[in-house]
Amino acid sequence: MYFTEDSSASRYIPLEIEPITVAPSRADQTLPRPPKRLVPAITGPAIASSSRLLPPELWLTDSSRAAARMPPIAAIEGLIGVFWGTGVGGGLVLDGRPWLGRGAAGEIGHMVVKRGGAKCPCGRKGCMEAYAGRAAMEAEARRQHEEGVKTDLFKLMRKHERDRLTSGIWERAVDHNDQLATHLIDRAIEALGTGIASAVNLLDPEAVILGGGLGVRFGDRYMEPLTKEMGKHLFVDERPPAVRVVSLGDLGGAIGASLLVA
Ligand SMILES: [Zn+2]
Repeated sequence: MYFTEDSSASRYIPLEIEPITVAPSRADQTLPRPPKRLVPAITGPAIASSSRLLPPELWLTDSSRAAARMPPIAAIEGLIGVFWGTGVGGGLVLDGRPWLGRGAAGEIGHMVVKRGGAKCPCGRKGCMEAYAGRAAMEAEARRQHEEGVKTDLFKLMRKHERDRLTSGIWERAVDHNDQLATHLIDRAIEALGTGIASAVNLLDPEAVILGGGLGVRFGDRYMEPLTKEMGKHLFVDERPPAVRVVSLGDLGGAIGASLLVA
């Protein structure tokens, strides 16, 4: 696949990218200039973005536009970016070009995976994000914990001096076989598999790129259950799209944003 090969991607990339500060949660930091050694790896990852990292006027369209600046990606006709983090964002490349719809396309997190299901931070019910978004998962963990379900999630959060359940806290809890954490991650994977497969049925892309804080943290580890879950819902299941995790980690959003202003 084009986007998984380092190949000659670097010659297409504008190397003189001025960094911009885009992370409100890290307002005191200026994001570093993307090091050249990372540049050849900017293929799928460059489209990474999230509403957490980007200002609102950018985040609706950032992923697709950044992707469109990447000739290697333009060689792919269809691509779905899924950014599994605080929420679940997305980006689309269709027919080799970014698909923005009327400006709000790619909101894969708000595809309904269960009618009348869990409440989503968007106020509606049953969205994929209601099960897979980190914020929604934390709310559910808190609710169950207050009802007496045992979990070390919040103990770990305090121990590591966090004020929220970061992807790292989720990972530690899963590593410790915390039952609630494991259950909620499994539930998230189920929702992601269901929602992504539905999007694939509609668009038939060649690839799905998984990014975001949780995506980076858990993507490879949960690739098998994720693709298995997708497989249950794929209409044409004998040729599923390639599913890959972004390789730039949390820098992906910053670099994708930088490409927009380069
Ligand atoms: Zn929603």
